[in-house]
Amino acid sequence: MPATQISTAPRPGVLGLIGDTPVVEITRFDTGPCRLFVKLESQNPGGSIKDRIALSMIETAERDGRLKPGATIIEATAGNTGLGLALVAARKGYKLILVVPDKMAREKVLNLRALGADVRITRSDVGKGHPEYYQDLAHEITAGLDNAFYVNQFGNEANPLSHETTTAPEIWRQMEGQVDAVVCGVGSGGTLTGLGRFFKRVSPETEMVLADPEGSVLAHYVKTGELLEAGSWAVEGIGEDFIPPVADMSLVTSAYTIPDRESFETARDLLVLEGILAGSSSGTLVSAALRYCRDQTVPKRVITFICDSGNKYLSKMFNDFWLLEQGFTDRPHYGDVRDLVT
Ligand code: PMP
Repeated sequence: MPATQISTAPRPGVLGLIGDTPVVEITRFDTGPCRLFVKLESQNPGGSIKDRIALSMIETAERDGRLKPGATIIEATAGNTGLGLALVAARKGYKLILVVPDKMAREKVLNLRALGADVRITRSDVGKGHPEYYQDLAHEITAGLDNAFYVNQFGNEANPLSHETTTAPEIWRQMEGQVDAVVCGVGSGGTLTGLGRFFKRVSPETEMVLADPEGSVLAHYVKTGELLEAGSWAVEGIGEDFIPPVADMSLVTSAYTIPDRESFETARDLLVLEGILAGSSSGTLVSAALRYCRDQTVPKRVITFICDSGNKYLSKMFNDFWLLEQGFTDRPHYGDVRDLVT
């Protein structure tokens, strides 16, 4: 049966719509000698790449007995894993507590609460080891509850495994077995590790390119093996102040550091030039992919991700007033300053 018929068949529930996301070619940017493709993870029912790991981490824990009926699921998340977990928890009847740093977009928090999650906002300006750090707080909440399951995407092997067994083979099929480079960011590192393991096995010459926000420790670590103190960045969902346990940084073959301003400009251009409404981390990924493409001297086929949709960032990155106020632009991009909406 042709794939199109399969993909339009009714599913037994919304969780059946996770994965099998489309790939489109970027045609209106300068990609040097290369062809650049993006996989639209924004098309998942919860709106991001994290739906995949939410489903696999919950179903794995159900299978191995760590998650029991009536349990409370707890996670520390910047938002998208939370949205995926909220979707899966709602469908499967679990309670969910999410610990979220206060720099995250308000739309994400409202969305999570609307899905029935108990969202606890905590400080973004403290690091690991501080009791108000989002992951430490999630640990503490779990310890104080009976029948609780701490998902811990940063150390959960079902996270990279879901990318190794679903995202990667989809890419391989959709790109017809010709992938010279995959560009990805690291939040938990699940995408990098899962894809890296698949390509190391199936196509070892495929390069794994890291896209890292300026201020994150990861790109410098890949280049030098040295862990610096983290700075700050405004892009959401990628960049870290530590090396997550599931992130196998040895899989990375090259790395690009992208300033917030460039990520936001690329995300804005993606919408105007390509009609793709993407979130801020996708701006970082596409910026790094474009730099990689333009650095090449021979034609290559490169793929990266639209990790989530831009609709969560309309009041921030897509708002010229916010960009001006935060110092990310000197003038409105598309329109007149008198038209700005606050
Ligand atoms: N982009 C966005 C928008 C995200 O929310 C995340 C996950 N935090 C990522 C990219 C990174 O994915 P991973 O956790 O697999 O490294």
